[in-house]
Amino acid sequence: MYKRLFLLSRDFPASPVVNMAAQFNIGDIVWAKLSSFPPWPSKIVRPKKDIKKPKGKKPVYFVFFYGTEDHAWVKAENLKPFEEYKDQMIKANKGKRFLQAVEAVEKVLRKGGGAKDTDDMDHEEVVPSSKPVQKTYSREPLLGKTVSPSTSIGLKRPPEGLGAEASIILKRPREDNESDLYNFDESEHETESDIVTAKDDITPTCLKIGFLGLGIMGSGMVRNLIKTGHSVMVWNRTPMKCRDFVQAGASMGGTVTEVVAACDITFGCVSDPNAVRDLVFGTNGVLQSIRPGKAYVEMSTIDVETVQDVAESIESRGGRFLEAPVIGTRKPAEDGMLVIVAGGDRSLFDDCESCFLAMGKKAFYLGEVGSGTRMKLVANMVLGSVMAGYAEGMSLAERAGLDLQTVLDVFKEGPLNCAAVRSKGDAILHSRFEPSFPLKHQQKDMRLALALGDELKQSLPVAAAANEMFKRAISLGNGDNDMSSVYRATAL
Ligand code: NAP
Repeated sequence: MYKRLFLLSRDFPASPVVNMAAQFNIGDIVWAKLSSFPPWPSKIVRPKKDIKKPKGKKPVYFVFFYGTEDHAWVKAENLKPFEEYKDQMIKANKGKRFLQAVEAVEKVLRKGGGAKDTDDMDHEEVVPSSKPVQKTYSREPLLGKTVSPSTSIGLKRPPEGLGAEASIILKRPREDNESDLYNFDESEHETESDIVTAKDDITPTCLKIGFLGLGIMGSGMVRNLIKTGHSVMVWNRTPMKCRDFVQAGASMGGTVTEVVAACDITFGCVSDPNAVRDLVFGTNGVLQSIRPGKAYVEMSTIDVETVQDVAESIESRGGRFLEAPVIGTRKPAEDGMLVIVAGGDRSLFDDCESCFLAMGKKAFYLGEVGSGTRMKLVANMVLGSVMAGYAEGMSLAERAGLDLQTVLDVFKEGPLNCAAVRSKGDAILHSRFEPSFPLKHQQKDMRLALALGDELKQSLPVAAAANEMFKRAISLGNGDNDMSSVYRATAL
């Protein structure tokens, strides 16, 4: 991945006239290059009124990127005439969106297009300006990068300064206000077509993939594995849930042992530590088929002790093990936008690359087994504390006679504006608690995080109080509802 980015940064050929930036006019079709992204088919347009011209000495032009509808100020030295460099650029970049953008430009050129055909109607003043580049686009032109088709792909080590252990798959950076880890079920964030396009660039591993557990999370993850062309065998305790996946192209294993025997890498995502122990150590469980060459990836949120027991048992039979719990709920799982926090066998992390790209937007390798689980528990402890405080605030607002819709509208305009506050606020407002993240799982995560705090002698008074609220919500019958129904424990 990093090698690819590095290559892209050198993709732009040197200008024939050294140190002299080319001159362009409004309407010229060009290749425009921004930071590490590939040169992109673009057009010089008049600057938009609402996009400030950056300061600096180097001349810049304001460009429109075909296919992305984005604009940006680009240094003159990073612009090349379209026709002259076309063959070179097309040879170097093959992504689907890239080719679509090229096609869009060709269409314009065939029509004899130039200054008149674009959306530069509300632009003003003529370029260039002698000021440095200011990025104004919301996304990079190319979503997703092609993964090597090798069966042992290997995520590249991170560049210096990112930390010795952490590795990151970078797929599609989003704007700050879009990038909530807990991208709750909000359709405003992503369109289906965005996701499908990004996933089109994934080359699936040719290893056989097993998946155990087709709950809320497993279902979304498996759908994305299938969509991106992985060969998948599924199993679920309640076999009926396998039906849709078999129709979508998966095969079905009769038992867990059978799945592990048939697959190179098997993923598991079930409720809690007890479910994981059943799955791994139970009759016809994972361990029965583990031998050298087999790999198991635990994606459930569980405690460090359980995950270490599982790792030890798998490894003692010659298998490879990786923990890879996920951050994100139903919608990110469906959209392939989860954040994966992994620990354990590094080579297995590398072998999972195309699967992680299918399921998530980023995967972090955090080091030894237990580190991913600790990361996940801290994240969910914070989430639970925030949710409990939020529910309490909404109850206070209601008791104080405030209109909850207005409260939410006010929140959305201030520093509380994030996906969690927006979507969970709507759930509270309309008493819609269909599970995206079942409350019983949130309480389990609070319990496991508090146990970690006990073990490490870390005082966690806020999380402890929040945990009590979740326990109370369960006793009121909300265990299978969404975690936002913790509100019902406060509205008394
Ligand atoms: P879910 O919808 O409740 O599904 C639970 C899955 O576990 C089902 O497939 C269930 O099988 C299976 N299962 C339960 N007990 C089992 C046992 N003893 N043996 C075998 N299978 C068993 O849960 P989920 O929301 O997908 O969550 C799965 C894991 O991901 C949990 O650890 C959760 O904490 C974590 N997680 C969830 C979210 C979220 O937002 N939902 C987010 C991040 C992480 P049946 O179908 O037969 O019941």
